[in-house]
Amino acid sequence: MKKIVIAIDGFSSSGKSTMAKDLAKEIGYIYIDTGAMYRAVTLYCLNNNIISEKGIDLEQLKEKIGQIHIQFKNNKQTGERETYLNSINVESEIRKMDVANWVSPIAAIGFVRKALVALQQKMGESKGIVMDGRDIGTVVFPQAELKIFITASPEIRAKRRAEELQAKGEQVFYTEVLKNIKKRDHIDSTREESPLKQAPDAIVLDNSRMTIDEQKAWLLVQYKKAVKE
Ligand code: C5P
Repeated sequence: MKKIVIAIDGFSSSGKSTMAKDLAKEIGYIYIDTGAMYRAVTLYCLNNNIISEKGIDLEQLKEKIGQIHIQFKNNKQTGERETYLNSINVESEIRKMDVANWVSPIAAIGFVRKALVALQQKMGESKGIVMDGRDIGTVVFPQAELKIFITASPEIRAKRRAEELQAKGEQVFYTEVLKNIKKRDHIDSTREESPLKQAPDAIVLDNSRMTIDEQKAWLLVQYKKAVKE
């Protein structure tokens, strides 16, 4: 069967990664979480005083961007792909609230996007990938054979995200998560560099009232249609 590129874009915590990851597993594709890449750059900035109370030191980040190496490796025990920053596994660290609070301003910087988009395009060169993010169908792979745009209300997304973080043992409140999600939606949709927007040929899914199994089944149908075309 022909291999295609599947681009899944949408708002923060809309369940994109769960859907993308499940589909990739089901059809034997590689899953690439581009949000994790922006998060890894943010973690690097937090750990190297590029982010401080004065804000983001753009000069220093520009100087260091070539030294930030991001990879995904399979965890042999769980079968999940995990994010590595300069050879260190940062999968759980990049999901924390301090990273979430800074990632959207970092992702709005033009030279950061340029570096990560080039890396993402390289990762998807041989097709057979499911990539999720904000600009996959519009900028990274405008020729993707299947484009999905996912949305859900901010309240539902915050509830899901807060429960996910709490299950991992992080002490967070729903209101804090909701505030972060609304702020990220705003920055992501209004930034000058590749803002979050639906590609004209994307299929839209509002998954506010769907179970994970329903979303999974829906996405599989879209994939089957796309490979037949
Ligand atoms: O998908 P996730 O919520 O982990 O992404 C974290 C942040 O990274 C988003 O809020 C957005 O600011 C940024 N991002 C982006 N472009 C992508 C993926 C993520 O700007 N392709």
